[in-house]
Amino acid sequence: MKVTVGEVLTRIASSRVVPTGPRCEMCAAGIGDEHQHVVDVQVRSLMCVCRPCYLLFAPVDADLRYKAVPDRYLEFPDFDLGPGRWESLEIPVGLAFFFRNSLLDKYIVFYPGPAGATESELPIDSFETVLEENPGLAQMRADVEALIVSVPTSGQSP
Ligand SMILES: [Zn+2]
Ligand SMILES: [Zn+2]
Repeated sequence: MKVTVGEVLTRIASSRVVPTGPRCEMCAAGIGDEHQHVVDVQVRSLMCVCRPCYLLFAPVDADLRYKAVPDRYLEFPDFDLGPGRWESLEIPVGLAFFFRNSLLDKYIVFYPGPAGATESELPIDSFETVLEENPGLAQMRADVEALIVSVPTSGQSP
Protein backbone atom coordinates (compact mmCIF):
# COMPACT_ATOMS: atom_id res chain seq x y z
CA MET A 1 0.00 0.00 0.00
CA LYS A 2 1.28 3.39 -0.97
CA VAL A 3 0.49 6.41 1.14
CA THR A 4 1.21 9.86 -0.20
CA VAL A 5 2.37 12.76 1.88
CA GLY A 6 -0.91 14.48 1.12
CA GLU A 7 -2.91 11.61 2.63
CA VAL A 8 -0.75 11.58 5.73
CA LEU A 9 -1.25 15.30 6.21
CA THR A 10 -4.99 14.87 5.77
CA ARG A 11 -5.04 12.19 8.43
CA ILE A 12 -3.07 14.32 10.87
CA ALA A 13 -5.36 17.27 10.23
CA SER A 14 -8.55 15.25 10.68
CA SER A 15 -7.27 13.60 13.84
CA ARG A 16 -6.94 17.08 15.26
CA VAL A 17 -10.58 17.86 14.49
CA VAL A 18 -11.92 14.68 16.09
CA PRO A 19 -10.07 14.43 19.38
CA THR A 20 -8.86 10.97 20.22
CA GLY A 21 -7.10 9.81 23.33
CA PRO A 22 -8.30 9.31 26.86
CA ARG A 23 -11.83 10.27 27.84
CA CYS A 24 -13.47 10.72 31.19
CA GLU A 25 -15.18 7.43 32.03
CA MET A 26 -17.99 9.29 33.76
CA CYS A 27 -18.92 12.14 31.43
CA ALA A 28 -16.88 11.30 28.28
CA ALA A 29 -15.11 14.66 28.21
CA GLY A 30 -11.66 14.53 26.62
CA ILE A 31 -8.88 14.34 29.21
CA GLY A 32 -5.12 14.51 28.90
CA ASP A 33 -2.69 11.71 29.58
CA GLU A 34 -2.18 13.25 33.01
CA HIS A 35 -5.55 12.97 34.70
CA GLN A 36 -7.16 11.93 37.90
CA HIS A 37 -8.73 8.67 38.96
CA VAL A 38 -11.59 7.48 41.09
CA VAL A 39 -12.06 4.01 42.53
CA ASP A 40 -15.29 2.12 42.07
CA VAL A 41 -15.40 0.72 45.58
CA GLN A 42 -17.88 -2.04 44.77
CA VAL A 43 -15.94 -3.67 41.98
CA ARG A 44 -12.55 -2.33 43.09
CA SER A 45 -11.55 -0.86 39.76
CA LEU A 46 -9.97 2.44 38.76
CA MET A 47 -11.65 4.85 36.38
CA CYS A 48 -9.97 7.69 34.48
CA VAL A 49 -11.86 10.95 35.04
CA CYS A 50 -11.79 14.66 34.27
CA ARG A 51 -11.13 17.25 36.96
CA PRO A 52 -14.80 18.22 37.59
CA CYS A 53 -15.85 14.59 38.00
CA TYR A 54 -12.86 13.99 40.25
CA LEU A 55 -13.81 16.88 42.52
CA LEU A 56 -17.31 15.48 42.80
CA PHE A 57 -15.93 12.46 44.63
CA ALA A 58 -13.09 14.15 46.50
CA PRO A 59 -14.78 14.70 49.90
CA VAL A 60 -13.09 12.19 52.17
CA ASP A 61 -16.04 11.47 54.41
CA ALA A 62 -18.67 11.10 51.71
CA ASP A 63 -20.18 7.64 51.77
CA LEU A 64 -20.21 7.04 48.04
CA ARG A 65 -19.68 4.20 45.68
CA TYR A 66 -16.92 6.17 43.94
CA LYS A 67 -13.96 7.68 45.73
CA ALA A 68 -11.34 10.05 44.39
CA VAL A 69 -7.77 8.80 44.45
CA PRO A 70 -5.60 11.38 46.26
CA ASP A 71 -2.77 13.05 44.37
CA ARG A 72 -0.27 12.18 47.06
CA TYR A 73 2.46 9.70 47.58
CA LEU A 74 3.59 8.92 51.10
CA GLU A 75 6.79 7.25 52.07
CA PHE A 76 7.40 5.36 55.24
CA PRO A 77 11.17 5.29 55.66
CA ASP A 78 10.79 3.87 59.16
CA PHE A 79 8.54 1.05 58.04
CA ASP A 80 9.70 -2.01 59.87
CA LEU A 81 8.78 -5.64 59.69
CA GLY A 82 10.08 -7.66 62.58
CA PRO A 83 11.80 -10.99 62.01
CA GLY A 84 9.46 -13.56 60.53
CA ARG A 85 6.68 -11.00 60.10
CA TRP A 86 6.55 -11.20 56.32
CA GLU A 87 6.34 -14.98 56.45
CA SER A 88 3.52 -14.71 58.97
CA LEU A 89 1.50 -12.75 56.38
CA GLU A 90 1.62 -15.85 54.16
CA ILE A 91 2.74 -13.92 51.08
CA PRO A 92 4.81 -16.23 48.89
CA VAL A 93 6.71 -13.48 47.01
CA GLY A 94 8.71 -10.41 48.00
CA LEU A 95 6.33 -7.75 46.67
CA ALA A 96 2.77 -6.95 47.69
CA PHE A 97 0.13 -4.21 47.82
CA PHE A 98 -2.05 -3.77 50.87
CA PHE A 99 -5.20 -1.73 51.16
CA ARG A 100 -8.24 -1.49 53.35
CA ASN A 101 -11.59 -2.18 51.75
CA SER A 102 -14.25 -0.18 53.56
CA LEU A 103 -17.15 -2.36 52.38
CA LEU A 104 -15.59 -5.52 53.72
CA ASP A 105 -13.93 -3.62 56.58
CA LYS A 106 -10.80 -5.67 55.99
CA TYR A 107 -7.28 -5.35 54.72
CA ILE A 108 -6.70 -7.08 51.42
CA VAL A 109 -3.39 -7.96 49.86
CA PHE A 110 -2.47 -8.29 46.20
CA TYR A 111 0.71 -9.86 44.98
CA PRO A 112 2.02 -11.01 41.62
CA GLY A 113 1.40 -14.68 40.96
CA PRO A 114 1.66 -17.08 38.03
CA ALA A 115 -1.97 -16.34 37.05
CA GLY A 116 -1.69 -12.55 37.35
CA ALA A 117 -2.35 -10.47 40.43
CA THR A 118 -3.52 -12.67 43.27
CA GLU A 119 -5.89 -11.27 45.86
CA SER A 120 -6.16 -12.70 49.31
CA GLU A 121 -7.30 -11.81 52.76
CA LEU A 122 -4.61 -11.28 55.32
CA PRO A 123 -4.15 -13.30 58.47
CA ILE A 124 -5.76 -10.62 60.63
CA ASP A 125 -3.64 -10.97 63.76
CA SER A 126 -0.38 -10.84 61.83
CA PHE A 127 -1.37 -7.74 59.91
CA GLU A 128 -2.75 -6.05 63.02
CA THR A 129 0.70 -6.47 64.54
CA VAL A 130 2.31 -4.82 61.51
CA LEU A 131 -0.12 -1.89 61.85
CA GLU A 132 0.60 -1.56 65.56
CA GLU A 133 4.33 -1.54 64.92
CA ASN A 134 3.99 1.06 62.15
CA PRO A 135 1.41 3.58 63.38
CA GLY A 136 2.12 5.90 60.42
CA LEU A 137 0.16 3.51 58.22
CA ALA A 138 -3.04 4.76 59.83
CA GLN A 139 -2.84 7.74 57.44
CA MET A 140 -3.65 5.45 54.55
CA ARG A 141 -7.15 6.11 53.27
CA ALA A 142 -9.40 3.14 52.81
CA ASP A 143 -10.08 2.01 49.23
CA VAL A 144 -8.02 4.66 47.46
CA GLU A 145 -4.54 4.27 48.90
CA ALA A 146 -2.39 1.19 48.92
CA LEU A 147 0.78 0.31 50.71
CA ILE A 148 3.44 -1.21 48.48
CA VAL A 149 5.95 -3.37 50.29
CA SER A 150 8.98 -4.95 48.73
CA VAL A 151 11.17 -7.21 50.82
CA PRO A 152 14.40 -8.90 49.82
CA THR A 153 13.64 -12.49 49.00
CA SER A 154 15.88 -15.13 50.44
CA GLY A 155 16.30 -16.75 47.02
CA GLN A 156 17.22 -20.40 46.77
CA SER A 157 19.04 -20.66 50.08
CA PRO A 158 18.41 -23.98 51.81
ZN1 LIG B 1 -15.88 13.84 33.65
ZN1 LIG C 1 -6.22 7.02 33.86
